[in-house]
Amino acid sequence: MSIEQEYFSVKDILGDLIGFQTTSNRSNLELIAYAENLLRHPNITTWRSAYPDDAETHCNLLVRIGPKGPGGLLISGHVDTVPALDQAGWITDPYVLTPSEDGEKLYGRGAADMLGAVACMLSKGKTWADMALAEPLYLLLSYNEEVGCTGIGSAIETFGELGIQPRLNLIPEPSGLELVFAHKSCTTVKFTVTTGHGHASEGNSPPVTNAVQLTSKLIDRISEDGELRKKLGHPLLGPASTEFTRFLQLSGGANVIPGDVEASMDLRATEGITQDGLGNAFGPVRASVLAEYRRRKIGPADIAVDYTIRGPGFICDDPRTIELAKLLAHRNDAIVVAYGTEAPRFKAGGHPEVLILGPGGIKEAHIANEFVARRQLIEFLGILDNFADFCVRPAKYLCDPRLG
Ligand SMILES: [Zn+2]
Repeated sequence: MSIEQEYFSVKDILGDLIGFQTTSNRSNLELIAYAENLLRHPNITTWRSAYPDDAETHCNLLVRIGPKGPGGLLISGHVDTVPALDQAGWITDPYVLTPSEDGEKLYGRGAADMLGAVACMLSKGKTWADMALAEPLYLLLSYNEEVGCTGIGSAIETFGELGIQPRLNLIPEPSGLELVFAHKSCTTVKFTVTTGHGHASEGNSPPVTNAVQLTSKLIDRISEDGELRKKLGHPLLGPASTEFTRFLQLSGGANVIPGDVEASMDLRATEGITQDGLGNAFGPVRASVLAEYRRRKIGPADIAVDYTIRGPGFICDDPRTIELAKLLAHRNDAIVVAYGTEAPRFKAGGHPEVLILGPGGIKEAHIANEFVARRQLIEFLGILDNFADFCVRPAKYLCDPRLG
C-alpha cells in the first residue's frame, strides 16, 4: 500500500471513530465492536475488560498481534473524548470528520485527542498480523481517560493475568510527535477566604475586611511568586505552574460587604503533591497577606488551603527504555509536558516503561475546531512501522550501542 493509500484508510477509520461520539459518559461498545471487526485475523487475539460498574456501557480492548511470548511492545490510546455539543465556536459538525480546503487538516472531536492515533493503530493492525513477528505487538484501547483515567486499570489487571510485560508502552497522546518522558501532576488547590460580613456603607472606612479584596490580593501574590513555583517544582520537571481558574463568592449581594470567597487554582507540579508540601509552599504567602490585612482592618480573616489531585505526575526513570523509544521514534531528545496521561496508571500497575508520542497538538485538544494535521498522521504511521520492525527483529534494536 502506498503512503497515500494508507493515509486514506486512516482517514476513513478516523471518520468512523469520530462518528461514534464516544464522549466519556456515553457507551463506547459500538466503537469497540467496530475495532474488533477491523482486527479479525488468525494472528490477532483480543480481550475486552471493564470494571463491573462499567461493563454494560464501556470496555477496554486489549489486542495481541503476532506470537504469544515474553517482551513485545504496546501502544495504548484512549477512545473517549471530551464533550463537543455544548461547546461554542465549532464551524463544522464536531462528529463529522471534515477536511480543510487544502486537505492538510482534519477537523472533528477527538481528531487530535486521540482518535487520529487510534485510527493509525487500527489501520495498521492486519498488515502487522501478516508479518513474521518474533515478539508480540499489543494494542490497547481504553475508556474514561478524560474523566480521571478510571477505565484503564482493569486492562492493566489483565496484563497480570496474561503475563504481559511489554518492553515499552507507547501512549500516543497528542504531543506534536515530540517524545515525552515525564509530565507534571495536576492538582486543584482551593483557597477559602473568610472574613466577617458588613454593611456596604461601611466600605471604605477600615473596620470590615472585604473577602473579595483579600482574595484578589492573595491571587496577585501567588501569581507573581516565582520562588513559590520553584519550591513546588522538581529537578527534572522544572518549576510548577499556578493558574487561577475559578473565583466564587459564596454569600452576600448588594448592600453587603462579602465575607466568604472560594478561589480555585490549577497547579501543575511534581510527580505527587502532599499536604505538607503545600503547607510549606503556601504558608508564607498566606501569612503575609493575612498580616498585612490585619494591620489595616479589624475583625476575623482566615485563608484555608485544600487540594484535590486530579491526575498524578509521571517520570519514566529507566534510561534504557527512553533510549529504545528514541531509537524507534527517530528522536534525539525526550521532553517534559504539563498535561496528564494514563502513564502513571501503567507505572502504578508495575509497568514503568512508558513514553508518550502522538500526532496532533495538545493546543488543539479539548477546544472547538479540534484538528489533526495530515502530515502528522503520515509521520506517525512511519513511527508505527518502526515499532513493527522492532517486533520482527528485536535483537537488532536491543543490541544497539545507544541502549548501553
Ligand atoms: Zn487524551
